[in-house]
Amino acid sequence: MNKALKLTGITKGYNLGKPTEVRVLNGVDFEMATGEVVALVAPSGAGKSTLLHIAGLLDTPDTGQVEIGGTVVGGGDRARTRLRRQDVGFVYQFHHLLQEFTGLENVVLPQLANGVPKCAAQSYAQELLDKVGLKDRANHRPGELSGGEQQRVAFCRALANKPRILLADEPTGNLDPGTSDTVFAALMDLVRASGMSALIATHNLELAARMDRMVRLEAGVFVPV
Ligand code: ADP
Repeated sequence: MNKALKLTGITKGYNLGKPTEVRVLNGVDFEMATGEVVALVAPSGAGKSTLLHIAGLLDTPDTGQVEIGGTVVGGGDRARTRLRRQDVGFVYQFHHLLQEFTGLENVVLPQLANGVPKCAAQSYAQELLDKVGLKDRANHRPGELSGGEQQRVAFCRALANKPRILLADEPTGNLDPGTSDTVFAALMDLVRASGMSALIATHNLELAARMDRMVRLEAGVFVPV
């Protein structure tokens, strides 16, 4: 069966214009099955964001291969962009919502960019927002929402185009512990209901324990926990 995400021999370094390169990823191999939710744990600076950006086709590795849903990602920009739009949802530590648009509109816009008719996009956005408990907040702008509510809108936006994989970079890292817990539960409910796969970076070992398995990024490679 096709893996939702497969990484083979991923390396990445930065040389910052100096002769010595800082090697961040040293040959990462990883496979994630459809419907699997995996925690990515590592200390700050270990290369989690670099890895997630490469897996999410926002950056390219120096060497190695990314495969999403059985499709090997090639080097062409247009094909990469299309695959990213259709198959990848991304959530950051900070919500990055568009401030001048309502929560609903923030979830509608990526669907319109993907060719979904406006009416269908609006009703799916509302359905997602209802699921994360934001039924009555859909028409509020981000500035009128709490941090936890903003992040829940960001989850709905990431899932709006029914991606094959969700990549999340410390999605509750900005929230206080109590809020983090309920917001994380909302994310897990969304992911489980959709049947998609997710790779979620977190420092929080309690949250990590609620996922299917854990991998640790250590010295530039993945090691099982
Ligand atoms: P993490 O997400 O685990 O905190 P990052 O992937 O952000 O780690 O960074 C890993 C290492 O790579 C760090 O030492 C960081 O300074 C370095 N790094 C990340 N991005 C760049 C860049 N664009 N240029 C140079 N160094 C970078």
